[in-house]
Amino acid sequence: MADRSGALMTDGEKTLILIVDDNPQNIQVLGNLMEGKGYDVAVAMNGGQVLDFIKDEKPDLILMDIMMPGMDGYAVCGMLKQNPETADIPVIFLTAKTEDDDIVLGLKTGAVDYVTKPFSETVLFARIRTHVELKKSRENIRRAKEELEKRNLKLQAAMKDLELAARTDSLTGLYNRRYMQNRLDEELVRVKRNKKDFTVVMSDIDFFKRINDAHGHECGDHVLKFMAGTLRSGIREQDIVSRWGGEEFIILLPETDKKGGLVLSEKIRKAIEASVFRYSDMDLRLTMTFGVATYRPEESIDELLKRADDALYAGKESGRNRVITL
Ligand SMILES: [Mg+2]
Repeated sequence: MADRSGALMTDGEKTLILIVDDNPQNIQVLGNLMEGKGYDVAVAMNGGQVLDFIKDEKPDLILMDIMMPGMDGYAVCGMLKQNPETADIPVIFLTAKTEDDDIVLGLKTGAVDYVTKPFSETVLFARIRTHVELKKSRENIRRAKEELEKRNLKLQAAMKDLELAARTDSLTGLYNRRYMQNRLDEELVRVKRNKKDFTVVMSDIDFFKRINDAHGHECGDHVLKFMAGTLRSGIREQDIVSRWGGEEFIILLPETDKKGGLVLSEKIRKAIEASVFRYSDMDLRLTMTFGVATYRPEESIDELLKRADDALYAGKESGRNRVITL
């Protein structure tokens, strides 16, 4: 690693300087000087060669003559500045043209600096080093920003996954109890505003314990998933079904009165009754019982759920596989 007068950056990367001059002798002298300071050097003798070169490689800095046959240095610099891929490469004019107007024009085309011949090596290298360091700092900032944005996107995706997991019952993929509790609280706020009924249906798989006892818990898990799917396909778009716990599910029916809740529950009950659940060569017939309760003004969510639960219990007591409201 070189000291501050050298060309090596602290990150250990080599610095590439492109020397543009139509005079081979100038190129020779400048090239030797640059290489003596530890820079990598590339050369171009006219604008065409510069444009060819930058297609493949991007120098860290360009030291540019102004008077050249064909495209002069101003024109080449202007083209580099208009191309987004090369606009950030600092260009220093090194020229025998010393008029103020020449210098102003050079800077107007987008050059970062202007050094007149005959030049002081110390000053020239100080300027080169400054502009290379500035450019590399800008690049580092840009890279850091990109990295940060990438990490941000990853973080956002992870947050989404987490949020999804936080409201999902992992076995059935339905909403979980906590999510349903939140939705019920929201529904309570909404009903106070729009005065429209909403209904909850508490449902439970009949004789679920027998299934577990007779066929094992793995079979029980499959039954839960099967029932979850049946419930989900039985509800309407605005409804929400959740696993409340064990073999118990709650369906929230927004803007639905008691009659609507009974009709929907009966439809689902019949679909379950008519379906056959197949598990390792066994055909199992399953049923569910449903307790329906429609919100009453001034009631709390707990009171509403208690009424749905009472209805479900009454349905179990009176023979199961039925829809009850009290
Ligand atoms: Mg020249």
